[in-house]
Amino acid sequence: MPSLLKLDFSALRSKLFSKEIKAREVVEAYIHRAEETRHLNAYVTETFDSALAQADTSDERLQKGEALPLEGLPLAIKDIFCTKGVRTTNASKILYNFVPPYESTVTSNLKNAGAICLGKTNLDEFAMGSSTMTSCHGASINPWKRKGDAADLIPGGSSGGSSASVAAGSSLAALGTDTGGSIRQPAALCGLVGMKPTYGLCSRYGIIAFASSLDQAGPLTRTVRDAALVLEHMAGHDPKDSTSMNRPIPNYESFLKGDVKGLKIGIPKEYDREGLNPEIKALWEKSAQWFREMGAEIVDISLPHTDYALPVYYIIAPAEASSNLARYDGVRYGLRMDGKSIDEMYQNTRTEGFGEEVTRRILIGTYVLSSGCYEDYYLRAQKVRRKVLEDFTNAFQKVDFILTPTTASEAFKVGKNLTDPLAMYLQDIFTVSTNLAGLPAISVPAGLSGSGLPLGMQLIGPSFSEASLLNAAYALETAAQFKSPLFEELKCHHPIG
Ligand code: GLN
Repeated sequence: MPSLLKLDFSALRSKLFSKEIKAREVVEAYIHRAEETRHLNAYVTETFDSALAQADTSDERLQKGEALPLEGLPLAIKDIFCTKGVRTTNASKILYNFVPPYESTVTSNLKNAGAICLGKTNLDEFAMGSSTMTSCHGASINPWKRKGDAADLIPGGSSGGSSASVAAGSSLAALGTDTGGSIRQPAALCGLVGMKPTYGLCSRYGIIAFASSLDQAGPLTRTVRDAALVLEHMAGHDPKDSTSMNRPIPNYESFLKGDVKGLKIGIPKEYDREGLNPEIKALWEKSAQWFREMGAEIVDISLPHTDYALPVYYIIAPAEASSNLARYDGVRYGLRMDGKSIDEMYQNTRTEGFGEEVTRRILIGTYVLSSGCYEDYYLRAQKVRRKVLEDFTNAFQKVDFILTPTTASEAFKVGKNLTDPLAMYLQDIFTVSTNLAGLPAISVPAGLSGSGLPLGMQLIGPSFSEASLLNAAYALETAAQFKSPLFEELKCHHPIG
């Protein structure tokens, strides 16, 4: 007998709307699953009581036939989104007891669409990392294991609590943020769909800033259809964010036809690089072949500045971070440590409050912005950033979408790469370019490695091509027929049907 935990939101929604099941039953099932999987350390703050109260309100609306579009969706929220009255730590000691007096626009949009927040999920401190290992709450654990090996693996990062939670079935969808890959990489390593929208599609208001010219919010879901549903209700113009775009948000779901006949899909030769796991390379070729069989044309392209994207990112992101994080001084909110003078108070607060990786980024950022270094690093990085964007603009004259792997390797063991920041930075090699260029990109689970771990493929599109990009991703999802054994195994505490 099927468990309601096995259904994606589009399937669950029809059962809720037909009153076959109640929102309360759904939320109870997810809470139960979250309790059962606490060892994964996916949630850092649980809001189960308010979730149950919201479920009752959802049931009232469902009863009256006034259901909202995401009515009853059990949602997990990365702990970087400010949630009114609910502790928001950003996985940092400096904000450990911070309770925001306001709500981020994206989370408020989703709640207004009927989504129910189960809690806040773990991340790398200030979203700086690719593993959740830099979190002050400790690492989250990937529910996936290598075949015959019980070792704990990382769920990716920085949105690793979100990916662990959706993969484990302790939420049905989760919010992430992506500054250099933090939605797509964890989605790929946990067998999920993860989408970073075009810069400006979703408001950044109320998202704790890391690198403001790169940060975007997006969904992590089981299926492309759910990504389309969630994105539609997150996105939209917000006068409180001057970089948010004022354009109509289409009904993304209505574009999911799976028809890619005649589309041109570009394969950038620069992504076929040393260090790319051969199994991932083979899956990349197979994915191109699926597109060919579905009637798309595969075109070899070049993105010549790809090699510079990572170094440019690791100048621009820390530069912006060092300036954004200057506000944590112990004066207005967050941690405050005493000192004999005001300078000493600042120093003690920041030394105590920030972890090693955040401190490293602040130091790099301050250095590249300092007079004497600014022209050589920051300004030059901005010029190369423009070149990276031009590469994409030229490529999109020839092709509709670009297909690449999302990551160069599968999920690694907890503890690995922690003392080697450069190895960790290489995690983002295939994802940072799109943040620099502001483009939308989506990771779709496309197959398993020999050791039984999920692998993701990335599709990149031109600015604001979300509707057709989601359709191309849907076609890839349909061809790949990826089935997460984790969802198949979800137990029947709440049997239905
Ligand atoms: N891993 C990258 C970093 O550490 C990306 C982080 C992100 O997208 N938030 O900067």
